[in-house]
Amino acid sequence: MGMLHRSAIDAHVHVHPDQAEVLLDVMEANDLSRVVNLGILEVLGIPFQEGMAAFRRALGGRLVYFTAPDFRDTSPGFGTRMAEELERKVEAGAAGLKIFKELGLRYRDADDHLIPVDDPRLDPLWAKAGELGVPVLIHTADPVAFFQPLDEHNERWEELRLHPDWHFGGPEFPDHDALLAQRDRVIERHPATLFIGAHLGNYPEDLAYVDGCLDRYPNLYVDTAARIGEIGRHPAEEVRAFFIKHQDRILFGTDLTMGWDVIEAKETEEEDKADTGSFYEAHWRFFETDERQIEYPGYPIQGRWKVDGIGLPDDVLEKLYVRNAQRLIPGLR
Ligand SMILES: [Zn+2]
Repeated sequence: MGMLHRSAIDAHVHVHPDQAEVLLDVMEANDLSRVVNLGILEVLGIPFQEGMAAFRRALGGRLVYFTAPDFRDTSPGFGTRMAEELERKVEAGAAGLKIFKELGLRYRDADDHLIPVDDPRLDPLWAKAGELGVPVLIHTADPVAFFQPLDEHNERWEELRLHPDWHFGGPEFPDHDALLAQRDRVIERHPATLFIGAHLGNYPEDLAYVDGCLDRYPNLYVDTAARIGEIGRHPAEEVRAFFIKHQDRILFGTDLTMGWDVIEAKETEEEDKADTGSFYEAHWRFFETDERQIEYPGYPIQGRWKVDGIGLPDDVLEKLYVRNAQRLIPGLR
């Protein structure tokens, strides 16, 4: 059961540069060899060079960074400017592009129209990522429940009460499936660009849908970030079969977040570190054991149900934890 040395790459974290040294401790304590840090500098307005220098000082080559485009400037030509900016950031050390869920839900153009994920004005950006050989980690939509009426019948009621801005059930938002259809059209239109669909392709509720996407689009990969609670609700045999079938296309990621107060605010660093220990442990248990009715990482915030471990074989774990990310992401090779 399990591997003594996972040396896993966590391909989906958001860590503030101020937390880089704490992150190193967390990595040592949890046998993580590398992390992929996503979009935190742009989202918090931290100067790129300054943030990258802090990461490098504490972590050297053990952290790679995906930059996020600036959607505050959406005057005509924005996609081309974003493509140019991506090129500069990659030259300055970025290893990929991160797209937050706000694309499709909140970002607006200069005429105040919502920008759909498949807006042709963004085509230069997707094409540039392909040309530069850096993957695009894209988060589109959110859990299906976040698009359903916000009342006590909503299965994520507790979580949405804490984060009311995560609810997209209002008439101003496109619906969940329409957003994923937009994303899928982008993936289809840019076969030379590699996409990583965050949160199991943002449809862990429907494994058949994600399975279909992976079959249809050879340039699509998915990560497991923050969705063990959802993935583990399906019968363990089905989930196991899915992970084995797509063993070359799934990246281990957790959504570990440090120093981004919008998401979580811990009292002390010690509390933070203790929490991350059980957080990673819960992932190992899910992927590596056949234990039934275990707590998913972060239980019970996503809902008061439990999950069944899927006991993956060692060679599949090795791809999930290490090899797939290494193959896809420059700087991890
Ligand atoms: Zn994330």
